[in-house]
Amino acid sequence: MSFSVVIVAAGGGTRAGPGLAKQWRAVAGKTVLRWSVDSLLQAGAREIVVVVGPDGEALADAALAGLSGWRTAAGGATRALSVQAGLKAIAGPADEPVLVHDAARPFVTAAHVAALLTALETADGAIPALPVADTLKREGPDGLTTTPREGLWRAQTPQAFRRDRLLAAYAAWTEGEPTDDAQVVEAHGGRVAIAPGDPRLMKLTYPEDFDMAERLAGGARMTRMGQGFDAHRWGPGEAVWLCGVRIDHDQTLIGHSDADAGLHALTDAILGAIGEGDIGDHFPPTDMKWKGASSDLFLEHAAGLVAAKGGRIINVDVTLICERPKIKPHRQAMRARLAAILDLPIDRVSVKATTTEGMGFTGRGEGLAAQAIAVVEM
Ligand code: MG
Repeated sequence: MSFSVVIVAAGGGTRAGPGLAKQWRAVAGKTVLRWSVDSLLQAGAREIVVVVGPDGEALADAALAGLSGWRTAAGGATRALSVQAGLKAIAGPADEPVLVHDAARPFVTAAHVAALLTALETADGAIPALPVADTLKREGPDGLTTTPREGLWRAQTPQAFRRDRLLAAYAAWTEGEPTDDAQVVEAHGGRVAIAPGDPRLMKLTYPEDFDMAERLAGGARMTRMGQGFDAHRWGPGEAVWLCGVRIDHDQTLIGHSDADAGLHALTDAILGAIGEGDIGDHFPPTDMKWKGASSDLFLEHAAGLVAAKGGRIINVDVTLICERPKIKPHRQAMRARLAAILDLPIDRVSVKATTTEGMGFTGRGEGLAAQAIAVVEM
């Protein structure tokens, strides 16, 4: 069913704390307004009008960059005037369903929209509402009294109406500022139906609400994976560094740093997971500063970048490919070393080894190769 949307984003929202109004702030890296617009476009909105205050035009452009199917309208002095300005800015059939939505409720979904449009088929308005679960108290001059909660609902948004019906109800409204749009339709003799509400349709009002929204948005956290590969040539020496552990050996790996191919592959895997290039971008081999450097530094740097981006490493898995030295006696020490550098429990750090049955450069003993995978949650 074709429908349009008015999103009221003209409010100052100062209760959520100083600074930008709440609809322009980010939750899980995405502007509060954009959460709604993304979802409503995905739900099939034909047109979205975002009603903004005096500074809102540029903020909306920035928040909704790259999206089409929306435009702004200038809001009024009150929410009711802003809603009416938005309704009048919509083109298209006058009796088409329109959803009126608060910009500060970011977690609307296509399922909410579908339920509202279905409920609207047999009513003049449809609202998502939740039964009141807490005991209600009224404070009076003599203290508290308890108010029965039977039959009481908490109304949320978006709320659905026929556009001409809602405009007619607003035209007839004379009672001051309504607290939602359904109230105006009710006063105009309209029947408003209840569709299932959802705690996730919460309105972000206070600073604590943003903490909860971040956690709710956790469902939208992204798991990312990166892989790395490295190889170094064997040369004369008496010990080799692998996965941060020194192993006595009759050869060593040749390289600019300590040539720890395990750490290099793993560093690249982590950089790959977060889209941060490769180890050479961060530690150019032309830079004498890294000559003979302990590769622990490289891995620490990559892990630091993950943390700086708000991510965390879930697990890592390294495979060393060589005929000699035998890796097995050193595997536990390697896992412990990687776990210490990455600050991970050891069961999330894997080190494995294989030979290539005498084939290829590792099989001929010309060099050692390492592969790694890192999984990161952003
Ligand atoms: Mg290397």
